[in-house]
Amino acid sequence: MTQSKNKVVIFLGPPGAGKGTQAERLAHEQQLLKISTGNILRDHVARDTELGRQVKPILDAGQLVPDQILIALIRDKLASMDNVRVIFDGFPRTQAQAEALDVLLEELGAPVNAVPLLEVPDQILIDRIVERGRQAAAKGEAVRSDDNEETARKRQQVYREQTQPLIDHYAARGHLYTVDGVGSMDEVYGRILEGMK
Ligand code: ADP
Repeated sequence: MTQSKNKVVIFLGPPGAGKGTQAERLAHEQQLLKISTGNILRDHVARDTELGRQVKPILDAGQLVPDQILIALIRDKLASMDNVRVIFDGFPRTQAQAEALDVLLEELGAPVNAVPLLEVPDQILIDRIVERGRQAAAKGEAVRSDDNEETARKRQQVYREQTQPLIDHYAARGHLYTVDGVGSMDEVYGRILEGMK
């Protein structure tokens, strides 16, 4: 049973860096569960749950949903797993979330294995997000209500203020490595695997 061992990967990087796409592929190839908090929250909004109604205005403004909500959500997810084989995409995003995750993983005996940080220049990020919105619209798909230039800039600012400090948190623990996020999907994926060795 080679896949029964715990494995925890945390993707860090600004909005639009490509975390979701890369995390998806890694999850598929290494039998990991991708936990994307953005997707989970958007799903609640789409289903119009109580939580969805509560968080919709926050998502639309490009702000962060309160820590307690995210921490409870992740605690539930992890509690239901026999082996902790996960990739976090979009969590943790604040110091409080990172500390809560440390405690949870400690309890589960599942230490963090790797924290790839995807680096992409700011203007490219905005272009990618605006383009993602355009593509979705062109294909008749649902456009994320936060994929417009103004909200994308807000999300970037929130990232700089609240999430970037986590780079030090994970660097201090020796898990962090930076990945150049500019290039083809295959190129970037190759760099992620290379850094994980
Ligand atoms: P992106 O990284 O492209 O901004 P996500 O899908 O990761 O997009 O997140 C979309 C939105 O969901 C965020 O702007 C925020 O409002 C909310 N969100 C997602 N994850 C978290 C989190 N860990 N803490 C607080 N809010 C979150």
